[in-house]
Amino acid sequence: TEFVSVSELANMMDVNVNEVISTCMSLGLFVSINQRLDAETLTVVADEFGYKVEFVSADIQESIDDADEEDSEENLVPRSPIVTVMGHVDHGKTSLLDYIRSTNVIAGEAGGITQHIGAYHVTLDEGKDITFLDTPGHEAFTAMRARGAQVTDIAIIIVAADDNVMPQTVEAINHASAAGVPIVFAINKIDKPGANPERIKEELANMNYLVEEWGGKYQSHDISAKQGKGIEDLLEKVLLEAEMLELNANPKKRAAGTIIESSLDRGRGYVATVLVQSGTLKSGDIVLAGQYFGHIKAMFNERNQKIEEAGPAQPAIILGLDGAPQAGDNFHVMENERDARGIANKREQLAREQGLRSQKHITLDEIGRRI
Ligand code: GDP
Ligand code: MG
Repeated sequence: TEFVSVSELANMMDVNVNEVISTCMSLGLFVSINQRLDAETLTVVADEFGYKVEFVSADIQESIDDADEEDSEENLVPRSPIVTVMGHVDHGKTSLLDYIRSTNVIAGEAGGITQHIGAYHVTLDEGKDITFLDTPGHEAFTAMRARGAQVTDIAIIIVAADDNVMPQTVEAINHASAAGVPIVFAINKIDKPGANPERIKEELANMNYLVEEWGGKYQSHDISAKQGKGIEDLLEKVLLEAEMLELNANPKKRAAGTIIESSLDRGRGYVATVLVQSGTLKSGDIVLAGQYFGHIKAMFNERNQKIEEAGPAQPAIILGLDGAPQAGDNFHVMENERDARGIANKREQLAREQGLRSQKHITLDEIGRRI
């Protein structure tokens, strides 16, 4: 397997090396001129310049390309929207996500989802599903974006009606807009005596975010996350927004997606919550994620039930990785263990090299502060 350096890649594409470096930066990778890039990074960076990378090793080529391969129309099927809730601290993100998680009952199954998990899939009516990312607010959203992961289809921006549009509300709106993610507003805490949802809508209007009620294009719904009021209607609006996006994916290929969270569990080893974005993830698959890889030993859904596969827009908890990848890392199912190990090792080396370099990059200002 051949890996080229940043400057070699720039030469091959006949572009200025600084352009390659800044493109890497926009993907959350801080690279130097002589740094070697792993297969996936190469593919992604070259793609930014309109190039397609052909790898010497056919296996790797196939594995990495699988996710980007043109999906023929007949292989595409509708998928659920993936939704993130963002907003100012204490405006009710956790309350809303908890309400949805704990009340959702899939037909024929008792109870909601009891465990806390970074992503869960709920069924509202037959065929009307939504996948929620339950990450701590927009920090995770930005962290994931910085790592090049675009996971969210729709953002619910929650604003407490007994408060105002706050700095983090504005930040969340800006993040969603910058990512081109449609927004649905949830005006929360309408049960509170001092609540004034109209004032929030006015504040939004002043920012040029005009809600539908006011003749604008943004859907909005008044809710009480505490009492569960208005939440069904809010989710209907989210589904409406999703319909317009015509989301689909090809389930008939090796899976690729994003790591949502991961940790080391005493009894079970490394546990990762992943979100499948294309293809179908199967128990036994060889997964490559960041610097780690492994065969999936067991796979569970958000209800802790053992599952054998997970399709597009479905979260899954997987056991079997040999480490804990970072939230926002992509994962790919690989054809064979040798390639998975090869890329994982290269990435580990890359990270080590980066670590060494950043240690050397201490500015005088920082040294001053230490003394
Ligand atoms: P987060 O910081 O955005 O996750 O906000 P939380 O969900 O933790 O909510 C902050 C506080 O507001 C908590 O004390 C909640 O119980 C309360 N809260 C959230 N939603 C509502 C609501 O609809 N009505 C009322 N009365 N309180 C709420
Ligand atoms: Mg919270």
